[in-house]
Amino acid sequence: MIQLYQPLNFMGWVYREIKQAVTDIEAMFRLLGEDPEIEDKPGAPSLVITEGRVRFEDVHFSYDPDRKILKGVSFDVPAGKTVAIVGPSGAGKSTISRLLYRFYDVSSGRIVIDGQDLRDVTQKSVRAAIGMVPQDTVLFNDTIRYNIRYGRWDASEEDIERAAQMAQIDTFIRAMPKGYDTEVGERGLKLSGGEKQRVAIARTILKGPPILILDEATSALDSYTEKEIQDELEQVSRGRTTLVIAHRLSTIVNADEILVMSAGEIVERGTHSELLSKQGLYAGMWDRQREADKARELLARTGEEA
Ligand code: ATP
Repeated sequence: MIQLYQPLNFMGWVYREIKQAVTDIEAMFRLLGEDPEIEDKPGAPSLVITEGRVRFEDVHFSYDPDRKILKGVSFDVPAGKTVAIVGPSGAGKSTISRLLYRFYDVSSGRIVIDGQDLRDVTQKSVRAAIGMVPQDTVLFNDTIRYNIRYGRWDASEEDIERAAQMAQIDTFIRAMPKGYDTEVGERGLKLSGGEKQRVAIARTILKGPPILILDEATSALDSYTEKEIQDELEQVSRGRTTLVIAHRLSTIVNADEILVMSAGEIVERGTHSELLSKQGLYAGMWDRQREADKARELLARTGEEA
């Protein structure tokens, strides 16, 4: 029994480790197949998207029974609108995106897309309706073409190239001797964080999902790349229901609603200007980031002069 238990236990550990480490959830499902922790109800129908409205209704969630992570989270993302989630590290922001992708089921409350509880429809149909641009994109050890086509297998060459152009990576790809046939990852070309994210954006453009989750990179890209990527993300999210997990407040000033999370609860909500006038947690975060940005600029300038 122990002999059998140990490999199973090890597999469980590997599974949990990968789940924790791989932020590219789509890649993970490809590697591991269906998520064994989440089961579709027998005969569950597919999610039907009518407009793409997302609602969290009093959602509670724990990874481990003795530690509550989300404590009654409710919000609404009307079709085509953008809601941003901000808050300190560990507040539960990414957990919200994992629940929306039905990586886990809620402990209580419900998550609803166009009136359908996520637990009543197939996981596959939920994931088909949602595009994820994760913090750190994990690329497959394959060609750039394959990595973009992953968004939609039946995409034509022109579709792939158009998506790459929109994500502003087409010129970079063409500059390489093998172009779209260039191998990436361990076996081939190493891409920078910004380039990887552009591949993820191209993939998402190709997928064309009605709902988007953008998990902003915590690691600082240089401010030029960051601005470019931000512009591309804005293009992609136009007209789609979008949930942004944001670390840089400057990127979400135009969001339709900003939710400020702390320790598993939404403690403030409103537009950027409404939140600034509240002089609360958000206003404090905004001031601190402005100070940090100013200090960084000054440092960069003195560096250039030296
Ligand atoms: P960050 O800004 O650092 O990405 P976050 O607000 O996105 O943080 P989450 O990733 O949602 O935070 O994590 C919320 C809490 O849940 C953290 O305390 C974290 O340690 C815990 N947590 C996350 N994943 C797991 C897991 N698989 N098992 C147990 N606890 C977890």
